[in-house]
Amino acid sequence: MTKPLVIAIDGPAGAGKSTVAQMLARRLGLAYVDSGATYRAAALKVLESGVSLEDEEAIIRVVGSAEIRFIPRQPQPQVLLDGKDVTATIRTAEVTQAASRVSRLPAVRKKLIALQRLLLIEPGVVMEGRDIGTVVFPDAPLKIFLKADTAERARRRVQQDQEQGRPATLDDTLSEISSRDQRDAQRQASPLVPAEGADILDSTDISAEEVVERILELARRKHLLGRQ
Ligand code: C5P
Repeated sequence: MTKPLVIAIDGPAGAGKSTVAQMLARRLGLAYVDSGATYRAAALKVLESGVSLEDEEAIIRVVGSAEIRFIPRQPQPQVLLDGKDVTATIRTAEVTQAASRVSRLPAVRKKLIALQRLLLIEPGVVMEGRDIGTVVFPDAPLKIFLKADTAERARRRVQQDQEQGRPATLDDTLSEISSRDQRDAQRQASPLVPAEGADILDSTDISAEEVVERILELARRKHLLGRQ
């Protein structure tokens, strides 16, 4: 029996991971998992419970009691927190910042990584995040590290936020992305770094379609297609 295929896509905020991972999953008939959504749901629980983002013990207790579910349905995955649909609520700026703060705690990561591993279903999954190729699925046969210039990532994020009815300025978004990048890359637990054996793609000057084509080409070269 062949194992389900894992395509890991990691990289900083706004590099195009979600767009590319969703397009790729659709093209290959695989499930799409946004691991960041699980950290966002954990952060929402912390914010709702009113504990301080400085109080590590309380955060670990609150997240420990959270029931987080990621349902990989089409066209958009659904996220449930304690049985409530939080798919839209986890996208606010406040949750975004809180997610990058609670995600630095190893106990929080341990719980969410276990949940993410359970989302591996037949025939396979395209999973995006920060540590999919390094920690969640280090044996993934295809690992992509997707990066782009900070200014371009901020520009894309502003456009995406506007399209989704969350107006944001370029300056605010630039500083939000930079502070998250710094926290994600410098934390001790699973810092954002390219995995060993990862293919590094820069999406600054190429479209999402082009990135998807390049990933498909890498998958073909590794004889990963047609086996699902
Ligand atoms: O991907 P997204 O921007 O939704 O992730 C929100 C935050 O969750 C990130 O800034 C990061 O701190 C955290 N995260 C993580 N590991 C992952 C996915 C997300 O630490 N695999």
